[in-house]
Amino acid sequence: MIQLYIPLNFLGVIYREIKQALADMERLFGLLDQNREVADSPGAQPLATRGARVEFSHVEFSYEAKRQILFDVDFAIPAGTTTAVVGHSGSGKSTLSRLLFRFYDVNRGSISIDGQDIRSVTQASLRSAIGIVPQDTVLFNDTIEYNIAYGKPGSSKDDIVAAARAASIHDFIESLPDGYATMVGERGLKLSGGEKQRVAIARTLLKNPAILIFDEATSALDSKSEQAIQAQLKEIARNRTTLVIAHRLSTIADAQQIMVLDHGKIVERGTHGSLLAAQGLYAQMWERQQARPEEELASPPLALQS
Ligand code: ADP
Ligand code: MG
Repeated sequence: MIQLYIPLNFLGVIYREIKQALADMERLFGLLDQNREVADSPGAQPLATRGARVEFSHVEFSYEAKRQILFDVDFAIPAGTTTAVVGHSGSGKSTLSRLLFRFYDVNRGSISIDGQDIRSVTQASLRSAIGIVPQDTVLFNDTIEYNIAYGKPGSSKDDIVAAARAASIHDFIESLPDGYATMVGERGLKLSGGEKQRVAIARTLLKNPAILIFDEATSALDSKSEQAIQAQLKEIARNRTTLVIAHRLSTIADAQQIMVLDHGKIVERGTHGSLLAAQGLYAQMWERQQARPEEELASPPLALQS
């Protein structure tokens, strides 16, 4: 009995650890590095960025042979600009970010950054060039300082504090009894959704990547925290190449380019103004969200289903 009990209990601990790790995209990518699905090609060179123009060229992708997820996805994000992707749940938006991070390789077509196919560069250099703020940041069971420094291991305390200040979380941290040494995560202090996103922003500021991905970064927040965090995300996106996956269209109305993804295909693209004028899917989504602002894109109205 005892012999059986101990391993099961141990598995429970491992399960919780894995569950936590899985929820954090960058950590997930880190873990998978050790068990590479995608390997550096022989002679892979470090990515050299000059402004970081991102280009998806006729990308086709499926996770499983039988079900294709992306179809001829073709777009560029000019260096230093923001492109937003909208579309219903399951349309393939997060898959775009997983492919850009090279979590998987495309089946056809290519993805390049400043003209370098991401399959030809080292994964370490690719991943250090990209910062992700996910929907729900899960913190490691460690100090808040460690959690911020994770953006750039080996950072000085001054740099960590500067990043925390810029993410408007320094004063909160200083108000805690143990300050930066406060333990957070599942076994430590529970932070609110807004506080966790500020930690994610501080991490990203410390990392200072050329390319940013916000994957529904504020969708788990109440509308007041959402507005505050949105303002900060805009600030850090300035002059960086940014891919924003949005659930609320009002947050991306000023993006230089907006694409509508539907069942793995880009069906519309343009600016907020041009897409409204086109009176297509985007315009319908916009009207629907204006009428019911709390609504997201999870369930398409009948008129939008194809
Ligand atoms: P979105 O972010 O737009 O909601 P995703 O890009 O996450 O959509 O998913 C697109 C489709 O791919 C969905 O149908 C989803 O079920 C499927 N999918 C996502 N991840 C995997 C995976 N690891 N294996 C198989 N199918 C997946
Ligand atoms: Mg998604």
